[in-house]
Amino acid sequence: MPALTPDPGRADPHRHQAAAAFLMTLPEPWTLGPIRAHRLAPELLERCDLTGWRLDGRLRRRLTLHPEGVRDYGAVLTARIRDLRAPGAPREAKPRAACSRCGSLRSLVHGRTVCVACATAPPAPPALHQAELAAEVRAALRTARRAS
Ligand SMILES: [Zn+2]
Repeated sequence: MPALTPDPGRADPHRHQAAAAFLMTLPEPWTLGPIRAHRLAPELLERCDLTGWRLDGRLRRRLTLHPEGVRDYGAVLTARIRDLRAPGAPREAKPRAACSRCGSLRSLVHGRTVCVACATAPPAPPALHQAELAAEVRAALRTARRAS
């Protein structure tokens, strides 16, 4: 006799029950009635599977944050479940700009494009400008010769 394989399109009834129970036991005023809880349970399970959340106290706290100003708790809860991201996922990690002088990814000085190390480093040693200085001296000599 072939083993019963669970229908992949259908949530395990035990998990569905657990998800509905989770929603019906959220702290007031977030507690959902059975109809809404059963309707929302498949979505909750799907988001949990996608993001790694589990039906635990951490998720309960996450979903019931900031109740002040909320009028329709069920609607807010639904939106929060649909918007669940992996726990601890960084918020919109902004690509870091490289220092315009040394190219490192160290933190830049506020409002500038150079890193702290470059901003506080002593000015470049004159050796770096030697070629420029030599050209200047040669130009000055040429002018002096022409003038004489
Ligand atoms: Zn730098």
